[in-house]
Amino acid sequence: MEIKVAKHAGFCFGVKKAIEIAEEVAQKNKEKTYVYGQLVHNEQVIKNLEGKGIIFAESINEIPENAVTVLRAHGEPGTTYQLLGQKSITKGNNLNDATCPLVTLVHNVAIKLKNSGYEVILFGKRDHPEAIGTSYHLKGKGTFIVEEPEQSDLAVDYITKNNFGKVAVISQTTMSVYGYKKLIDNINKALAGKFAEIPLSMKNLDIKYGYVDTICNPTKQRQSGTEEIAKESDIVIVIGGKNSSNSKELYAKCKELGVESHFIQSGHQLQKEWFKGKEKIGVTAGASTPDYLINEVVEKIREMTSSVIP
Ligand code: SF4
Repeated sequence: MEIKVAKHAGFCFGVKKAIEIAEEVAQKNKEKTYVYGQLVHNEQVIKNLEGKGIIFAESINEIPENAVTVLRAHGEPGTTYQLLGQKSITKGNNLNDATCPLVTLVHNVAIKLKNSGYEVILFGKRDHPEAIGTSYHLKGKGTFIVEEPEQSDLAVDYITKNNFGKVAVISQTTMSVYGYKKLIDNINKALAGKFAEIPLSMKNLDIKYGYVDTICNPTKQRQSGTEEIAKESDIVIVIGGKNSSNSKELYAKCKELGVESHFIQSGHQLQKEWFKGKEKIGVTAGASTPDYLINEVVEKIREMTSSVIP
């Protein structure tokens, strides 16, 4: 019996940085430190930070005037900065922005496309904070969002009915690479004009239909590492927060490849019978899963399988 952890499983640099910022700020600050929203989508990480005295506020109303505040990795709409500003919480003063630079890059791409006359469609999860933050730079709540490649007909309808002069598709950083490709392929099959790739450098903004590959590299690496392990395992355990978009994509990928897979948040959810008769066990984890959690799960599997009936 072999247990193998997928390449690149666990924390990405954006999540690591956000946690470092929150910890550093809380350590220096003698008053209470607030984080607006879930800093990263992992319940255990949040619990640990709460243990260090950090307060997580779900609404800006819960943050007091002048409070030292940290913004999560997923990026915020401009309204968040305005509302915090009204409470005298501002950048360079008491506001610490942990937005991942790769999310800021997507915001900049959205702004540039919009300013170049494109109607921008977002491939993402409507309620995800990143999609909300990116939409702010487009049409706010009116931004056209496609959540699944199977919804391509809705996008095609939207494009043809409105007869837009220029259309571009961008993606949330944590979506499925294959899903995005499938969406563009589906749209291209239905439309006479073909969507061509616009490079991230934003050169070639004259084309009528385009898409920009804004899925971040750490997400791509986690997806390919998971695919690799799913192909060679009898069972895959995916560790990630319940709200973690990139972890859910890893789980979906394993299921799509037909391998028995289980999505868990901690080792306590493992069940001994899952491993009965299994020779090759794969473990993977989303970008917001800490190493200690991966190690804990591997250890638990080892314990369980040493006493499991073959
Ligand atoms: S998943 Fe990508 S965009 Fe999100 S925090 Fe990590 S590196 Fe940044």
